Amino acid sequence: MGRIIYKKAIVVSNEIEPSEEYKRPQKVIRNPFEMAKQQIDIVAKEMRLDKNITKYLKRVERSLIVSIPVVMDNGELEVFEGYRAQHSTVRGPGKGGIRFSPNVCLDEVKALATWMTWKNSLLNLPLGGAKGGVCVDPRKLSLGELERLTRRYTAEIINIIGPDIDIPAPDVGTDKRIMAWIMDVYSMQKGRSVPGVVTGKPIEIGGSVGRESATGMGLYYVLDALYKKMNLALKGSSIVVQGFGNVGGTIARILYEKGAKIIAISDISGGLYDNKGLDIKKLSEWVDQNHFLKDYREENYEFIPNDKLLNIDCDVLIPAAIENQITLDNADNINCGIILEGANGPTTPEADEILRERGIIVVPDILANAGGVCVSYFEYIQDIHSYFWKLDRINQELEGIMVNTFSEVYDLSLKKNTTLRTAAYIIAVSRLARAIELRGIFP
Ligand code: NAD
Repeated sequence: MGRIIYKKAIVVSNEIEPSEEYKRPQKVIRNPFEMAKQQIDIVAKEMRLDKNITKYLKRVERSLIVSIPVVMDNGELEVFEGYRAQHSTVRGPGKGGIRFSPNVCLDEVKALATWMTWKNSLLNLPLGGAKGGVCVDPRKLSLGELERLTRRYTAEIINIIGPDIDIPAPDVGTDKRIMAWIMDVYSMQKGRSVPGVVTGKPIEIGGSVGRESATGMGLYYVLDALYKKMNLALKGSSIVVQGFGNVGGTIARILYEKGAKIIAISDISGGLYDNKGLDIKKLSEWVDQNHFLKDYREENYEFIPNDKLLNIDCDVLIPAAIENQITLDNADNINCGIILEGANGPTTPEADEILRERGIIVVPDILANAGGVCVSYFEYIQDIHSYFWKLDRINQELEGIMVNTFSEVYDLSLKKNTTLRTAAYIIAVSRLARAIELRGIFP
């Protein structure tokens, strides 16, 4: 075994200033957990929430930092840092994805866990909010290294996950194969097969049909419901999508098939633009083979960087990559009628205010991208009952929940003359506050 390399996590928080050496390579825009807390303050003021409850909601119940030693293929040991944060388990076990990304830090995971609490409460699912992550670029690992990293991370967090405690799922940089390894480690430790410990698994080991496309399907149901309220037609609408992974790729394919014009799409390598509309089917096949959009060539397609993509004139902008994309720096230049938040936390509270003043409708993440956790919940139920549903039932139940939740949020936003985000937060926070009141504070 060779040199031990310790990969220190990049910490971006108000309290701890990271040393120069470990600062994020790209510009730090906002600490996402500070953003999540600011969102709670905004809604607490709007609904005159009890100050003690507000104080309680701005803290995560539990967060764990773990070191993950991995023997690399070259025989050297690398030690990565991983996290799992549970914001609230008041309404049920924690639920939320696991992210493998070089930018993951504790505050990012805490923010994502907080947003999961609101999302699950908004959908009225009997679940709390959690999230996890490992500070690693999974694309730089071999398959064997990725498996060893996943198995050791699972072993490190095993005492705080489980079907009754906290149920992880895929997120940025993780997929069903990784969920299968997590389920295997957990099951080996328990001495029996426990499929309910994670969702987003392969169908062969207790996964659900429709889970992979669920977030994109949910985005579509919500956008369709909004379009109906506004008497608009999706066919021919111009759409811009940032991110071409699970969420961005699925919604782009659905809208393309429904006759909308996807005029621009991007991944981390950059984007492609054609005002007449891109061939999403061809681009999906390309990305399946070549991973990135950057080398794709087609006569009329213009290659554009991600920051330019966000300013393109369109009917609907769908940020479906990462958080902190629409900020004070670019909110004035956003050129769309509707923003449908596929990613978690793509818009900062300051940018939100500018968009509101400019009359741009923002469908907030906790509503728009909730289809994923909704079908994860269906998967969890199916695992518990060992009885699996057909795709028609999944999509029908998903549509029912997404459209009803959208209507509830939309109606409240009209009644209170507020944004969809504030209305969604009022519903989610009220439900959780009521649960806290009913349970009381232990002891
Ligand atoms: P993914 O890893 O499948 O895809 C992410 C995409 O974003 C990739 O195309 C990647 O190249 C691109 N990307 C990454 N960094 C970028 C950057 N700086 N600029 C532009 N593009 C960039 O991840 P995903 O599962 O599609 O998740 C995307 C977002 O949706 C995340 O915010 C995630 O938390 C959220 N989300 C995912 C699910 C789910 O079911 N997967 C559910 C709800 C919310």
